[in-house]
Amino acid sequence: MSIFKDLGLGQDIVEALVDLGYETPTHIQEISIPQIISSKADLKAFAQTGTGKTAAFSLPILQQIDLSSHDTQAIILSPTRELAIQIAKNIEEFSKNMKKLNVLAVYGGAKIDEQISRLKRGVQIVVGTPGRTVDLIKRKRLNLKSIQWLVLDEADEMLNMGFKDELDQILEATPSSKQTLLFSATFPKEVESIARNYMKKPVEISAGKKNVGADKVEHEYYLVSDRNRYPALKRIADIHPNIYSIVFCRTRRETKDIADKLINDGYNADALHGDLSQAQRDIVMQKFRNKNLQILVATDVAARGLDVHDLTHVINYKLPDQSENYTHRSGRTGRAGKEGISIALITPKEKGKLRPIERKINKKFELKLVPNGKDICQKQLYNLIDKVHDIEINEKEIKEFLPDVYQKLDGMDREELIKRFVSIEFNQFLSYYENAKDLNGDDSRDRKKYDDENLTRFYINLGKMDKLNPAVLIGLINENIKNRNVEIGQIEILKNFSFFELDKNFTDDVLESFQNTYFNNRSIIVEVTNKSKSGGGNRRKKRPFNNFKGESRRSSSNSGNRRKSSASSFSGKNSGRRRRR
Ligand code: AMP
Repeated sequence: MSIFKDLGLGQDIVEALVDLGYETPTHIQEISIPQIISSKADLKAFAQTGTGKTAAFSLPILQQIDLSSHDTQAIILSPTRELAIQIAKNIEEFSKNMKKLNVLAVYGGAKIDEQISRLKRGVQIVVGTPGRTVDLIKRKRLNLKSIQWLVLDEADEMLNMGFKDELDQILEATPSSKQTLLFSATFPKEVESIARNYMKKPVEISAGKKNVGADKVEHEYYLVSDRNRYPALKRIADIHPNIYSIVFCRTRRETKDIADKLINDGYNADALHGDLSQAQRDIVMQKFRNKNLQILVATDVAARGLDVHDLTHVINYKLPDQSENYTHRSGRTGRAGKEGISIALITPKEKGKLRPIERKINKKFELKLVPNGKDICQKQLYNLIDKVHDIEINEKEIKEFLPDVYQKLDGMDREELIKRFVSIEFNQFLSYYENAKDLNGDDSRDRKKYDDENLTRFYINLGKMDKLNPAVLIGLINENIKNRNVEIGQIEILKNFSFFELDKNFTDDVLESFQNTYFNNRSIIVEVTNKSKSGGGNRRKKRPFNNFKGESRRSSSNSGNRRKSSASSFSGKNSGRRRRR
């Protein structure tokens, strides 16, 4: 294994790396640093997040930059503001012994005037998001005539985020003599087309299989029904009391929903998604980085650029559509040589999605069983004992209270005392998980039984011909039944008529509220019908309601057009659930 000095880096840089604790180059650094220093050829690098790619492209640039000139000589493009800031910060750290080196991150959402005045003073390396970079070029505030290096970092992500036009404009505006360095975790055809159009005979390198992170990540999956996804997530969090994890969701809405549920259920969690303002996002990310948050529920895009080193788990609440995105997600753990676990929560139907991912990561997923209540109680109990064991006693402060405390506990022997202290925490878990059911596998039989017992099936004289669909039908129900907390079960839309299921307790309300109502001038008829299904109907709606004794305060609602079910109408037995922090 080589050392940084052998790669052609000067003393100033090597010393800064020593201070940062970088001892040996990562695989991608080992290949790309000497390559970029010794050759002007363009470079196409396959490198995932966490492989040390930032240093892989910045160090050779720093080594060759002309400090006697104030011209902008390198431009690094990154998909997000956070990543741009992170890269600029890394470069500042790498160049801390190069006094004349100026680096600046330019990104949208921040005052452009301040960025312009910094540029005026002379910045040799600019790290920018594509949109703001184009803006500065158009305003003629960013002069690219002396550019020698252009880096496209996370090129696939920039294209995923729709920056194709901006990249084209920037690439066109830079001198053809520059060296283009393209770093990407995946090479879909859009990235290949950028490489083809703008790079000259690029040298290709890969840090794919040997990257420091990916080898240390284990991939696990839990097989659960759709409605058990959320309770399974909670159990996974409960069996890992020291979890520090990003939970990836597919949509902003799902992200908010899951984060809200976790917060309500007492977990130390928060959400990160595009609906938040930049300031809100910054706060959440800072809290997570500082470990004041244990679980961050995020969309793929929002989590980009969040540089967190020691995640214990990455959890795919739902698998992404493209297997490339799975590698992005799982690459967030197992960074810089640390171990990590990437978990996928999948339904039996989704099992087919694992194979393409396994091919991509060149590893097998291991099936894990959702822990049962007893396992969790045991784990939490032992964790509590470890905490008691390791706690630092503040002798000075506690001293004056001890006589009274001893007096109050007088007469209890050691065993009795231990049992009582431990029970304070343990009882909550015990009661929470008492009668907790097995969440593994398909539970459609339980669901049917539940439906039969708790839901009434209604006939309605509207169907596809009336342009009725589940969303419209739910809207109609919402409009007519004023109580917004009624659970809706399956919906079947047929040609001329439809069926829907609804909380049995509201049967009379439904019948009454639909009397004398109209849909597109047609009088609506709603009647109770028997439970036997029509068979060929459109059974799009699964009943995802989940509130078996003690499992959850809320419904596990995965369908956007589903109404919220009433928490209070079911006796969720988690009132004793503890707040974590
Ligand atoms: P990156 O892929 O550039 O985001 O780097 C991932 C993480 O690894 C960052 O936290 C870096 O600070 C760290 N890192 C990069 N290169 C090395 C190295 N050679 N030795 C130790 N840590 C490194």
